Amino acid sequence: MDYSILEPLIRESRNQCNEGKVASYIPELSKVSGDLLGITVHEVGKDPVTAGECMPKFTLQSISKVFALLLALIDRGEQQVFEKVGMEPTGDMYNSLMKLEIVTPGKPFNPMINAGAITVTSFIEGDNVNERFERILSFIQKLSGDDSIYYNEKVYHSENHTAHRNRALAHLLKDNGILEGDVEEHLEVYFKQCAIETSCTNLARMGMILANGGKDPETSEQLIPKRYVQIAKTFMITCGMYNASGEFAIEAGIPAKSGVSGGILAVAPNMGIGVIGPALDRKGNSIAGIRLLTRLSEEWDLTIF
Ligand code: GLN
Repeated sequence: MDYSILEPLIRESRNQCNEGKVASYIPELSKVSGDLLGITVHEVGKDPVTAGECMPKFTLQSISKVFALLLALIDRGEQQVFEKVGMEPTGDMYNSLMKLEIVTPGKPFNPMINAGAITVTSFIEGDNVNERFERILSFIQKLSGDDSIYYNEKVYHSENHTAHRNRALAHLLKDNGILEGDVEEHLEVYFKQCAIETSCTNLARMGMILANGGKDPETSEQLIPKRYVQIAKTFMITCGMYNASGEFAIEAGIPAKSGVSGGILAVAPNMGIGVIGPALDRKGNSIAGIRLLTRLSEEWDLTIF
């Protein structure tokens, strides 16, 4: 791959930043600058390459949904997970309550929206809240090859104190018979997984493992069963960018998952990509990040279609 195009593409894409806004509904997230844009590309069997201005660390937010899903599948298997969470895109915002009310039996449409992700998180095994969270954390540490990864307590508390909508979703799920056990405990694990801090390099490596079918190319260890990687990548294509997933699939054509911190994890053929650009569009995706991945996909012909 010709890495010399990365810096010019970043310069070009960064112009989009002033059309977006940094997330503020989680107050702690609003403290970063909106005009940063950075990327790391990690091809299987090569060293990662970084360009632009990657913030040293940012929280995963919804990107964590991919890893919670993978771990829940490992813990419980497909049948149990998909009994409670669907496989279809919603066309609604990620935090929408609407379809939980009108569609029987009130089951979330997919694991990439908040309602689906809170349900998926409730499946992670462990004797208590701490153990369940620690298992997600160590899974992410293992995939990224970085055991210094931890969660940001300020971001966690900031979300926990303001999460009226997620609480409403979770209680509705409990009332619908989808969520079992203690609602607040599931929310605590969910908010903490969203607050896990990673870098573009971490994201790119995790993406590279997914691009490699779940196998760590350095150790040849199969970290995730291939079938589950395939499920996760399919959800990333159909639902990973929420109600902008169709357009992103046409324009960039690569499985990707965004988070409201402005991070994007993308899994292109034979490579993982991590992007950070905190200014978001109206659907909650990094505005310059989408542009950058779209342009990169054009230049390197990355579309899977
Ligand atoms: N923690 C965020 C929330 O639940 C994640 C949402 C997102 O990144 N889109 O609202």
